[in-house]
Amino acid sequence: MRRAVAAYLFPAPRRVALSNLAPHYFLNAFRDSHGLDLLFEGEERSLLDRRRPGEFAVIFVGLSYEPSYLNFARYLHLHGIPILKKDRSAGKFPRIIAGGVAASLNPRPLLDICDAVLCGEAEPMHGDLTALLDDPAAIRELVAGIGYAAKPGKKTTIIQASAGSFAVSSHPDLAKEGNEFGGRTVLEIDRGCVGNCFFCAARHLYGESREADRHRITHAAEGAFKRGEDIALLGTGLESVSYFDDLLDRAIAAGRTVSLSSVRIAGFTPERASRLAAAGVKTVTLAPESMVAATRTRIGKPLTDDALFAAFAIAKEHRFKVKLYLMAGLPGGDSVAEAQELIAFFTELKKRKLTVPLSLSVSPFCPKPGTPFHKKQLMPKKEYERFRSAAMRGIGELMPRMPVEWFSWRESLLQVAFDRMDAAQGAAFLAAYADGGDIRSAEKRSGIRLDDLSG
Ligand code: SF4
Repeated sequence: MRRAVAAYLFPAPRRVALSNLAPHYFLNAFRDSHGLDLLFEGEERSLLDRRRPGEFAVIFVGLSYEPSYLNFARYLHLHGIPILKKDRSAGKFPRIIAGGVAASLNPRPLLDICDAVLCGEAEPMHGDLTALLDDPAAIRELVAGIGYAAKPGKKTTIIQASAGSFAVSSHPDLAKEGNEFGGRTVLEIDRGCVGNCFFCAARHLYGESREADRHRITHAAEGAFKRGEDIALLGTGLESVSYFDDLLDRAIAAGRTVSLSSVRIAGFTPERASRLAAAGVKTVTLAPESMVAATRTRIGKPLTDDALFAAFAIAKEHRFKVKLYLMAGLPGGDSVAEAQELIAFFTELKKRKLTVPLSLSVSPFCPKPGTPFHKKQLMPKKEYERFRSAAMRGIGELMPRMPVEWFSWRESLLQVAFDRMDAAQGAAFLAAYADGGDIRSAEKRSGIRLDDLSG
């Protein structure tokens, strides 16, 4: 059987996978040249050519979130592909090349599983990826010469696209598949960040803010408007992008609407809020991380309480809903005091008559590799639960109808554990998980306790 050359696997259900821009980038970059196709969790065959995973010579896998390693391991197992690279003989099984944010943060647990783990952003890899696809049989040898391919015992090099050299947006051919942005065309307009928060990998791994190519992004936005589609803008510091306001103005002129990943509070000015409202933005996401000013300063996000109240005043004036993102268990913080300050903030918000339709999302702080906080601890589960009960008691009295989302502590544990595993641990744990699909039995069978990696 002749092998189809390449597929890109994002180990999540199709709709979730296509809400990430990586499959769109790969389809755009390698469909015409190498017939690249897309694979999704829970589907037997590829999206376009209806091939089984084992028919491809190369499978790229995008691992942007550590818990998705579990789905990836299961996917290989369920499709009859051995999980360990030593068990995949040449020519019989696909070569597997991993990339993505999580894999770049700590490639080590994937080293005995994948034939290559490439760290960084895809655009500057294009020449090397083309060479690998041209000669899949030589992948292991070719990878040895790639500087940003992770190697055992060596410090990871992360390759970045230069400012203006990238412009990723939804592939128009995939529009009918839908996404988690209400079917909008998604445009990524910046990477890195102008902020300097000590917990955040965006800044510490991906550096200072870099804007996507203005011309290509504008062209993609105008294309979406012509097709009658609205747009969603993704990035880490949207409002600092030099052509952000211009994109909003274009959407307004075309009678289309915009949604945003989040806005930094410093850039949420009255003038910008008017533009956002005119562009149909209904919800703004604000991420102060903590309601304690001293904690915010300690984590490198020195926002004053006044700046926060000012943001709520602007949101109220323009009738925005606000999604508030907080972290529990930030280094040096005290959970009980943090929960009390959260309630005190909502109390003050009410007193100042600044309440708006509000939802709250809380996740446990995860120490990320490459950041100044990488050696800090994940808060114990019991403490997270204490924080949750204290916060919910106060919220229940003050704002009983406010939707509150508590991110799973267990998923945070998986993030921290995979961010700290070495090659042998990654191989043992994921091979055990692939077999049974159960975390506890994978811990037992591999002898690796996730809790032991979180301290
Ligand atoms: S948390 Fe937000 S503002 Fe801070 S560095 Fe990360 S992306 Fe930038």
